[in-house]
Amino acid sequence: MKCKICSREAEENGFCPLHSKAYTNVLEKFRVWEAASNVSWMGYLLEIQKNSLTGVWAKEVAKYLIEEENKR
Ligand SMILES: [Zn+2]
Repeated sequence: MKCKICSREAEENGFCPLHSKAYTNVLEKFRVWEAASNVSWMGYLLEIQKNSLTGVWAKEVAKYLIEEENKR
């Protein structure tokens, strides 16, 4: 199975090790943000994409998750 974001070999959750780590970080940070500012999941993902301090892996994860949200 390939990673949902890049073409590397994926782990069980559908992401390669690098995107899997970034995904975990994104989820963990969201819990902190949500508690502090009541931000929505989508608002948070958009912030990640805009934030120049965010790593490229997290940005790619955010982009993927936004696309998934928009499919609903
Ligand atoms: Zn990947």
